[in-house]
Amino acid sequence: MSKFFGTNGVRGKFNELDPELTLKLAQAIGTYFKCGKILLARDCRLTGPVLHASVIAGLASVGCEVIDLGIVSAPTAEFMIEKLKANGCIIITASHNPPEWNALKVVDGAGIAISKERGEEIEKLMDKIKLAEWNKVGKISKYELAVQDHIDAIKKQLGSKPLTKKKIVLDCGNGTACGIAPKLFNELGMEILTINSHMDGRFPGRPSEPTQVNVKELITAVKVSNADAGIAWDGDGDRVIFVDEFGNYVIGDKVFALSIIWKLYNTKEKIGDVITTVATSKAAEDIAKKYGAKTRFTAIGAPYLCEEFVKKPGSIAGEEVGGVIWPELSLAKDGFFTAAKMVEALSQKPLSEWLKQIPVYYNVKTKIDASEKTKKEIVARVLNHAKKNKLKFNQIDGVRIDFEDSWVIVRASGTENYVRIFAEAKSEKKAKDLVEEYKRIAVN
Ligand code: MG
Repeated sequence: MSKFFGTNGVRGKFNELDPELTLKLAQAIGTYFKCGKILLARDCRLTGPVLHASVIAGLASVGCEVIDLGIVSAPTAEFMIEKLKANGCIIITASHNPPEWNALKVVDGAGIAISKERGEEIEKLMDKIKLAEWNKVGKISKYELAVQDHIDAIKKQLGSKPLTKKKIVLDCGNGTACGIAPKLFNELGMEILTINSHMDGRFPGRPSEPTQVNVKELITAVKVSNADAGIAWDGDGDRVIFVDEFGNYVIGDKVFALSIIWKLYNTKEKIGDVITTVATSKAAEDIAKKYGAKTRFTAIGAPYLCEEFVKKPGSIAGEEVGGVIWPELSLAKDGFFTAAKMVEALSQKPLSEWLKQIPVYYNVKTKIDASEKTKKEIVARVLNHAKKNKLKFNQIDGVRIDFEDSWVIVRASGTENYVRIFAEAKSEKKAKDLVEEYKRIAVN
């Protein structure tokens, strides 16, 4: 069991992920990557500068060369790995979590985020740290062009045809999006309005997670200004949500579905697989099928998407919360490239029209309180039920059971004392009934 690493890096409040632990983790991470060049980036959280100093000290003390990208988004930092030929990257960001949290997101030289399993290997190195000789400590330098490099690469992917000028409202959520989004959409020739567009690690404008409730101000701004669309990011910019021209919120699952359409619709060469997690809407699979693409499923968490992609590449990968991987750019979930693709699609038709191409499904979620011990029993009961009744199921992450045009997943939370049940169906009633049915099976 990993002690510190979770699904995507090491996360904690300041008294948990403190400067001392951060330093030791950075030493182990540097050792794991066999040093060389390691990139470092952070978001604007108040504990960022302190942890940043610890990571620099940790990496350089074991002999790594540290290239400090400054305050940039996670996809920007991850994009730079290949460009600067680095052996790895550490991003100090707690993504969409509240401001008192922070985290180390770790990505290897191939652009693959470090999973819990690989995190365990890093933790083992923490007791075997070998300091570099005094004259072999790593050099520390700054690279300040990462944002522009990232913007240029996005623009290059969009091609040379100018886009139709649209009015777009950007809600940067006081996070790292402030440093890239206004510039990017200006350069794409859009008329932009911005809200929460100054960086502030206390996230005074709205909580960092771009849920429907949290982006109320954006929805109003799109309606009042008669804009063509609204866009909001989470704190580190890997996740993105949209608002259509009528002020309708476009949830992450639909952002991924739209991304698949935009990618496959424009693919001239052979279409590859769509890679997604077992908790993503069936809409993704339906769209993929329509374009002749196969869907491959992974466990929940960005590292698993990357790993699956490297094992066997595909056209696009993504998860239900609005993180989409565009392999033509990098293996990062890139909220800025996803948003740029949306703006590109607006040149053809309004966002509400694109949304009509997504098959309609209804989702219902619930959770059951459970200890570490009962979690296993609950999932086992559901598994037995599936086997006994000869249902179509997989155990990629928890137990997922597939029916004709609906499915249900029962899985133990990795970080909290819950078992989550999530169902999707063509009607809301059917989804509710499925959740209720499996809740009964799970607790009996
Ligand atoms: Mg994030």
